[in-house]
Amino acid sequence: MIGEMTAPPGFVDLHLHTIHSDGMHTPEEVVAFAGRARLAAIAITDHDTLDGIAPAAAAARPAGIELIPGVELSASDGPSDVHLLGYFLDPAAPGLDEELLALRDGRFLRAQRTVELLNRIGAPVSFERVLAIAGPAPIGRPHIATALVEAGHATTMDQAFERFIGYHAPAFVPKRALDPAAAVELIRRAGGVAVLAHPGSLRRDDLIPGLVARGLGGIEVWHPKHDGTRVRHYQKIAGKHGLSITGGSDFHGGGRGTSTVGDQPVPTGVLDSLRARARACAR
Ligand code: AMP
Ligand code: FE
Ligand code: FE
Ligand code: ZN
Repeated sequence: MIGEMTAPPGFVDLHLHTIHSDGMHTPEEVVAFAGRARLAAIAITDHDTLDGIAPAAAAARPAGIELIPGVELSASDGPSDVHLLGYFLDPAAPGLDEELLALRDGRFLRAQRTVELLNRIGAPVSFERVLAIAGPAPIGRPHIATALVEAGHATTMDQAFERFIGYHAPAFVPKRALDPAAAVELIRRAGGVAVLAHPGSLRRDDLIPGLVARGLGGIEVWHPKHDGTRVRHYQKIAGKHGLSITGGSDFHGGGRGTSTVGDQPVPTGVLDSLRARARACAR
């Protein structure tokens, strides 16, 4: 039928990493993947930095893809790493740069301490090598894991986490992270909408009501780590609290995860809801 041959309904991918955090591809390459997947819009959501946004926007414009400015902020509550996605924030908002810089400085110091510990426990890697692997990115454990694999102390990144730098492993060092409510407020002050990332991996639904009270605007419902049951569960929670729903592939590329750009069924409509929320906040 002719109807089935017309353009597919629009889809978006609102969770993408680049070499500006722990992704393996440049912003330009990620935009090219989005073009191949025929996405209407994407958000670059690197960890604790906005550096990928401008180059992605420059590549997205001629490709006819809308680029939503985004970020994935590091927060923590006790032992839980809480990731907060921010959308439509103004990169030039006062105070934002300073907070991001502090998070990145914290990552640098933490990486130095991790390398010291690794040297002490007999799995030496050089800090210079870790720096080179991180390149333009704030240093994350995936960069250290890559160095551990290179040095032959582990055969896979998973094994590097398991044996050395995962939460219960001997060279784990916590990083400087924001209080989740402070992360929500930081995103809102910058004119953005704060969204709780992959709540299904976080497994801390107890945090949601408190974050809603502080201005949380959405919940990531579609994510590669969410099965159908989780998707429905978080749709229901979003409905209960009047939150927007979002989703994305959490694409890192290379050996870092198995997702591909555009592999989550996130309809363009979710973007309209987010945009309306960002505009309402700006008033
Ligand atoms: P960091 O923010 O530096 O503590 O690093 C956390 C990041 O490491 C997460 O965002 C994931 O992308 C990645 N990660 C966590 N566990 C693993 C694992 N087992 N294998 C590979 N990457 C992982
Ligand atoms: Fe990551
Ligand atoms: Fe995350
Ligand atoms: Zn992510």
